[in-house]
Amino acid sequence: MDLPKTADVVIIGGGVVGCSIAYHLARRGARDVLVLERDAVGAGTTSKAAGGIRAQFPTETEIRFSLDAIRVFERFEDEFGVDPGYRKIGYLFLISESEDLRGYESRVALQQSLGVDVRIIAPSEAKALVPALHVDDLIAAVWGPDDGMAGPAEVTNAFARRARELGARIVEGVDVTGIEIQGGRATAVVTASGTVGTRVVVNAAGPAAARVGRLAGVDLPVHPRRRHIFFTEPFPEIPGPVPLTTDRASGFYFRKEMEQVLLSPGDVEDVGDDFDVAVDRAKIGETVEKAIHRLPILEKARISGGWAGLRPLTPDDHAIIGWAPGVEGFFVAVGFGGHGFQHSPTTGRVVSEWLVDGAPSMDLSLFAPDRFARGQSAAHDTGPDAE
Ligand SMILES: Cc1cc2nc3c(=O)[nH]c(=O)nc-3n(C[C@H](O)[C@H](O)[C@H](O)COP(=O)(O)OP(=O)(O)OC[C@H]3O[C@@H](n4cnc5c(N)ncnc54)[C@H](O)[C@@H]3O)c2cc1C
Repeated sequence: MDLPKTADVVIIGGGVVGCSIAYHLARRGARDVLVLERDAVGAGTTSKAAGGIRAQFPTETEIRFSLDAIRVFERFEDEFGVDPGYRKIGYLFLISESEDLRGYESRVALQQSLGVDVRIIAPSEAKALVPALHVDDLIAAVWGPDDGMAGPAEVTNAFARRARELGARIVEGVDVTGIEIQGGRATAVVTASGTVGTRVVVNAAGPAAARVGRLAGVDLPVHPRRRHIFFTEPFPEIPGPVPLTTDRASGFYFRKEMEQVLLSPGDVEDVGDDFDVAVDRAKIGETVEKAIHRLPILEKARISGGWAGLRPLTPDDHAIIGWAPGVEGFFVAVGFGGHGFQHSPTTGRVVSEWLVDGAPSMDLSLFAPDRFARGQSAAHDTGPDAE
């Protein structure tokens, strides 16, 4: 597809976030939406996600984001005509430290007050859910039976297809290399294939968000950090489905994928701005060690492959959504860390409300782009992420 000379809204990034925004904008009646993707739709960090979906978040805003997104996943096939592979396998957090448990007690109370089915259970109950678990060193677990998973590729492609059907244009293989600013306002994006004049530029560039922010002179604290996932050969000794289970002491997490077991060491590693994320095979040893401690039967398993991806982290682990300070017409929807996939349906909806109606229907101050400069960012859970 040729690059148009103008578009009302230009979205930089055709990952799950950019495609959801494009779909929701088009659905809300925005007529002239253009997504520019330097690679292919969904080829960025979205293609590395484990597909996990949970309502177990530490803040009211994020819990509401999740509950809204879960409603979309539940009726995804009706809305998009595609089976996203959504299954409520549950999320299980394994706790060995009393301080960690105290943090969970208040977060679980908040989640329950918002209607989430979540409870603190005994180690023996966790073992009843996943009999292969070693639980002797645990003091508790947290169980959310309504949490689950779906396929990131299916969901992203469904957003992209419906966006196109509603009139949005998505052009792949186009790298945005500049953002023109005139009189403090973003007026165009620059690419090797030409310049596109616009009224609104949306930064949905995932782990490249800080780099794209710099094109407009905006500093965004989005730090790409590498995380690995390995998988075993078919391993019927742990029958599925099993909940997405996170060992809070080590960061290790696992779930079943068909007959295989997915295993992540829960690593958080600065590998620079290199967006071709190589697998570090040395991580296999660390993963296997953490895995065998928690699931001794895995000693019999063989690792048959794996991948690594970048999680776009922010200093307080909350996303950054809103108008960028200092440049009019430059909107950001970035920094989603390990939860950008699951929050993409709600992100698309609230961003479209903001851009079309002038304001989102939810209080999004948690995600305010200027919170870091104002010294008002606060991490609400400093333990390892589930994804
Ligand atoms: C190992 C791992 C496991 C994860 N597990 C989960 C999980 O279980 N659940 C969950 O919710 N999330 C998970 N995540 C996080 C999730 O993958 C991300 O938060 C989410 O995919 C972010 O989507 P995005 O659209 O913002 O980014 P991306 O998918 O990276 O999309 C951004 C796009 O922008 C494009 N782009 C960048 N710069 C430019 C430019 N200059 N011009 C044009 N295009 C550009 C890129 O090519 C890319 O396609 C996981 C991440 C990793 C690494």
